[in-house]
Amino acid sequence: MKQSGPRRPLREVGELVAAGLSDGVGLDAVAAKYAIGISPAVVELIDPADPADPIARQFVPTLNELVTTPDERADPIGDLTHSPVEGIVHRYPDRVLLKAVHVCPVYCRFCFRREMVGPAGLGTLTGPELDAAVGYIADHPEIWEVILTGGDPLVLSPRRLAEIMARLAGIAHVKIVRFHTRVPVVEPERVDGAMVAALRASGKTTYLAVHANHEREFTPAARAAMARLVDGGVVLISQSVLLRGVNDDVETLAGLMKAFVENRVKPYYLHHPDLAPGTSHFRVSIEEGQALVTALRGRISGLAQPSYMLDIPGGHGKAEIGAAAISGGDGCFTVRDWQGGEHRYPPG
Ligand code: SF4
Repeated sequence: MKQSGPRRPLREVGELVAAGLSDGVGLDAVAAKYAIGISPAVVELIDPADPADPIARQFVPTLNELVTTPDERADPIGDLTHSPVEGIVHRYPDRVLLKAVHVCPVYCRFCFRREMVGPAGLGTLTGPELDAAVGYIADHPEIWEVILTGGDPLVLSPRRLAEIMARLAGIAHVKIVRFHTRVPVVEPERVDGAMVAALRASGKTTYLAVHANHEREFTPAARAAMARLVDGGVVLISQSVLLRGVNDDVETLAGLMKAFVENRVKPYYLHHPDLAPGTSHFRVSIEEGQALVTALRGRISGLAQPSYMLDIPGGHGKAEIGAAAISGGDGCFTVRDWQGGEHRYPPG
């Protein structure tokens, strides 16, 4: 493990080579397609001596990303088919995504929005675009929840975040504001008192989904950032992606989910990896995913169970895809327990 690292993110192939994280061979072609970004906190976490390091695998680009399979697509979850105005995705009646920024403190190699994020991505909403997005929310009384995602909304300054929260606070029908972010893990020092205060708004409940994929991401600094959020009145939930070579074994998944719970983060979603271009080396099969979440059920507390989710390509929304534990009908069911044993219900 490295003892000290750079004080600013690594963004160039040459910087990865200088930091001992890659030989850089052929990576200019990857960098030309997809943004690179590894924050100092993540550089510290990577063990460059381990060729299978699960942290490096998430952030250090490889030539595998140049392989695109026929079923992969630039907009794997169909954001663009549900975008009535710039920055808004309105896929379900009661909630919208508000994508204010398309930059991130790190660039995950498996990112489902990798064609949209980064310095060459969709950019940050302009003032008039943000006005139109907030206007859309105000004009749709069925919108109960606004989900700030992107990009990573916590790259915005506390002042900008507070401005957005103040505008949402003025819309009576919006009750919940949710942030999706990697910042508490990859740039925990950003989560200071000003940031926590900026995430709160009078009359609204703030949820924040912490994205982490491996227990090692829970450094002391990350744990402290999560504690500041919870103590500041923000409700924390988790989101993780099931990734080959990162967390695709029951031991690692159990450690990850328990780390969330220990840090007052309720496990929420474990995403099946999306069909983003150049990410096939990360994908597990659905059967493997189902076997893993079934094994988790027997191994760790119900508090620590995530829902295993698939975003249906084409913009059709999410479906829970954990293996069904019950089958049958007409009052006669077969229920499978966590060890695979089958039982009639009612017992008869
Ligand atoms: S932080 Fe989220 S949006 Fe940004 S690169 Fe990672 S997965 Fe994509």
